[in-house]
Parts: sequence; C-alpha cells; structure tokens
Amino acid sequence: MNILADLGIKPVNAGACWGVNQWSESQDELITSFSPANGEEIAKVYAASESDYDTIVAKAEEAFVEWRAIPAPIRGELVRKMGEALREKKDALGSLVSLEMGKSKAEGDGEVQEMIDMADFAVGQSRMLYGKMMHSERPQHRMYEQWQPLGLVGVISAFNFPVAVWSWNAFIAAICGNVTIWKPSPKTPLTAVAVQNICNDVLAESGYKPIFYMFVDSEQNKLAEKFVTDKRVKKMSFTGSSVVGKMVGVKVAERMGKCLLELAGNNALIVDESANLEHAIPAVAFGAVGTAGQRCTTTRRLIVHESIVDKVTDILVDAYKQVTIGDPLDTNNLMGPLIDETAVANFEATIEKAKQQGGEILFGGNRIDRPGHYVEPTIIRAENNWEVVQNETFAPILYIMTFKTIEEAIELNNGVRQGLSSAIFTQNLSNAEKFLSYAGSDCGIANVNIGTSGAEIGGAFGGEKDTGGGREAGSDSWKAYMRRQTNTIFWGDTPTLAQGITFNI
Ligand code: NAD
Repeated sequence: MNILADLGIKPVNAGACWGVNQWSESQDELITSFSPANGEEIAKVYAASESDYDTIVAKAEEAFVEWRAIPAPIRGELVRKMGEALREKKDALGSLVSLEMGKSKAEGDGEVQEMIDMADFAVGQSRMLYGKMMHSERPQHRMYEQWQPLGLVGVISAFNFPVAVWSWNAFIAAICGNVTIWKPSPKTPLTAVAVQNICNDVLAESGYKPIFYMFVDSEQNKLAEKFVTDKRVKKMSFTGSSVVGKMVGVKVAERMGKCLLELAGNNALIVDESANLEHAIPAVAFGAVGTAGQRCTTTRRLIVHESIVDKVTDILVDAYKQVTIGDPLDTNNLMGPLIDETAVANFEATIEKAKQQGGEILFGGNRIDRPGHYVEPTIIRAENNWEVVQNETFAPILYIMTFKTIEEAIELNNGVRQGLSSAIFTQNLSNAEKFLSYAGSDCGIANVNIGTSGAEIGGAFGGEKDTGGGREAGSDSWKAYMRRQTNTIFWGDTPTLAQGITFNI
C-alpha cells in the first residue's frame, strides 16, 4: 500500500517497538488493522509479549537517565525538528489516519496539523518551565520552587484521535525531560507505528537514543492492565471511555501513581431565541456529524428555546440532507464510517432504546447498506433525563430538547454525568455571561457562538465529573508532567527555624 510505504512502514515488522526499527522479537500474535471504510484488511502488526513489554520498560528507563540530563531548550529544539518531519509527512500521515480511523481526509490532515502545532507549542514551552521564587520568612534564606521530570510517562489512547492525543502528551512530556511509552488503540496501530518512527528517526539523525516507546496489545488488554499497575510508570495518561478510565484511575491511585484522565463527553449546545442561526446551524451540523459523531467533543444534545425549535429543526434537517457520506479519503464526502461493527450495533441499539423511551426520529436512524460501517446521521426529539440521553453513544446521534429560561437551559446542559464541552449561541450578553459564570456551564470547555467540537491546542483541554478532570495540551498543562520541589537555602551566619520556633541544644 502506497501510504504505508510513504511512511516507511513495513507492516510485517510493525508491532512492539523499542526504538528506531528495532522491533519485537516475539512474533506470537498478529493484530489486523481494518479500514472502516470498506471492512478490508490494511495490514497486520505484531502484538507485544510480556517479555517484549519488560524489555521496552527497561530500555525506556535507561533512556530517561540520559534524556533528563539534556537541557530543556535542546530537548525543545529536537521536538521542533519532529514538527518539521511531521510537516513533510503531513499528507501521507493524514491519509493513513483517514484510512485506518475512518475520519475524512480533511480531518485526518487536521489531526496531523494539531501534532505540528503541539510541537511548535512545546518548543516555546521548553524555555518556560518556570518555577517561582518566594520570599522566605527567615532572614538570609532563599526559597524557590523548581520542576523536575517525572520519569516514564504512560499514554493509553483511544481510536478516534489516533495520533494527536499522543502528541499532546508526548511532546510536552519530552521537553519536560520524560520518556514516553505508548499503548495505542488496537483499532489504530499503524498510525501509531508511523508516528513513532517519524519522531524517533529525528532523534537518531541528531545522534540521540529513542525517547518514544510503544507496544501494541490485543483487544483483551492483558499487557495494558499490567502497564496501568506498573510502578515504574510514574504518570499514566489515559484517554478513552469513562468505564475503563475509572478502573484505570483506581488502579493508578492504589499504587500512588499520578494519573491524567481524558474520558467521555456528553456535550450540549444551547441555542437561545436571539441566536444567529446562520452561525449556529453549521456549528451544530459539524459538531454532531463530523468524524461520524466519534469525537469526545461531538455535539450530542441540542437545547433550543421553545419559541424557535420548529424553525431550528427544519433548517437542521435540510442541512443534514446535504451531508455526503462515503469513503473518507474522497474529499467530496463530509462524513465517513463508524470504526467497526460493534459501533454500528451500539448505534442501532441506542436508536431502539430512544424509540422505546418515546424518542421521535426527525432524521436518519438507520445503518446504510453498503460495505464498511456506515450509518445515517440522526436527529431525535428527546428528554434530557432519559437513560439513553444520559449516556454517550459514540455515533452521529443528536438529541433535541427545549427550554424556556436560560437557567433551565444551563440546568439541562449540566444535567448529565459528563462535563467536557459546552456552547451557547446567543446575541444576549447577559445569557452569555450567565453561561460562563460560576452558576453557568460546569464543563471544562464553555464556548460562546462557536460549537462544542474541535479545540485549539493553546488552551488546556479536558473536562469535569465523569470526564475525569485531566487537562492536556496548552496553557500550564506541562506541570502535569513534572514534579514540583520546594527548595530553601540558608546563606547567612545565624540559622533560624520557621515560625519563630526556638530549639536550643
Ligand atoms: P476505550 O475506553 O474502549 O479504549 C481506550 C483505550 O483503553 C484503548 O487503547 C484500549 O485498548 C484501552 N483499554 C481498554 N481496556 C483497558 C484496560 N482494562 N486496561 C487498560 N487499557 C484498556 O475507548 P475507545 O472506544 O477507544 O474511545 C472512545 C472513548 O474515548 C469515548 O468515550 C470518548 O469520549 C473518549 N475520548 C475522550 C477524549 C478526551 O480527551 N476526553 C478524547 C478522545 C476519546
């Protein structure tokens, strides 16, 4: 396959890797990567064995001892070169993301662009790992705090952002002096191998050992569970469903490890009676239909003022009729397939449950009869408290509900277990400010006049409640990859104790 060759992947050798082109020795189990667009096999990769895993961790520990000694701005310079390498490979890598995950080519390229942006951000951050200097209460003492690398950072990622999520973690972890071990989703192993090769090749060309390690595990997640409980992995950054994330959080806490959780969303978009519908409708359609509803920030609930709900529904249904569905690599298509047959079955089960609970299908509701895992984008009139609405179904299903007052709209927005992204479309300043106030949205992301889906890397990304509380990417998220140390130095002649305590011996 040309895309694989362009990215230097020899599929038969892809699999557990601990360095540049140094692959797993055990070749016991093969994992097949399928294209969701037609259900056909793309390539097979080797899964790691237990002994491969131990070798990977040992090599990563060795690499850390050298990497942490390299000055942070030089680490940043190496990440800058990785960004350049990704720029060169953007077209091929974006196509592989689209081929393996099923998102449109534009979204696949966009995901690689996000990695490039993340590399740029990390370069600047590498010169800004600032600690504070505090005034000591004791004379002739200096007190400050500094930030030290953690060691091994584990990344477990979901299938839907097969490369960007890794870069949010790995590039920042790298400039902070850490070494990363990645367990990608077994549904998207090829993109992971490609990225790992590109970035470790950059290090090799500059004379450095690999600092990015990965292993591919089977659907049973036996090694992934070992990874989660492994004390050598100081930080575990997990992106995935809330069910698995809760289990990971508990296991990491049990061993007193550090954990970063990026879990499910159930994102709402409020449209009040003053909203500019020319802006709101495309944002809803993109938010609900983009990536076939398989983004953590997908718009899943549309909360519309009762006075305009019929109008909004009519325009939205017209917009949905224009959504072209098919091969994600064909740039004419706006929506690709779901990831696999399980996802299609979940879509169908959710539609059935919604109907049983009284949901009225306003558009779509069916699987599309063709090779691959395609479904119709779907709009359902529903109530917020229905169990089916309370759960995240990873598919393009949008529930519409109504409100009378802004307070009621905010209550609906917040009335789910998850707390990732939220938005309001309004021209009413007071409504916008209420939505952003302490009594407003309880989500990690709250937008005004833009949709819920698609965040910029400059801000810290993550959510509250069952979304897990983690923050990644921009702002001061780098602090999550370092340990804070407070230092007090006495440089005078007469030592003093804190709080004026005397202790004469
Ligand atoms: P998932 O929970 O099924 O899998 C996520 C990862 O966890 C995969 O790599 C999987 O192999 C691994 N895993 C599964 N069981 C495990 C175990 N017992 N121990 C260790 N690892 C295990 O999720 P998915 O279907 O790949 O992704 C979709 C979910 O991810 C959605 O809920 C979505 O909202 C969420 N997501 C969240 C964010 C975010 O930033 N908040 C981003 C992307 C996806």
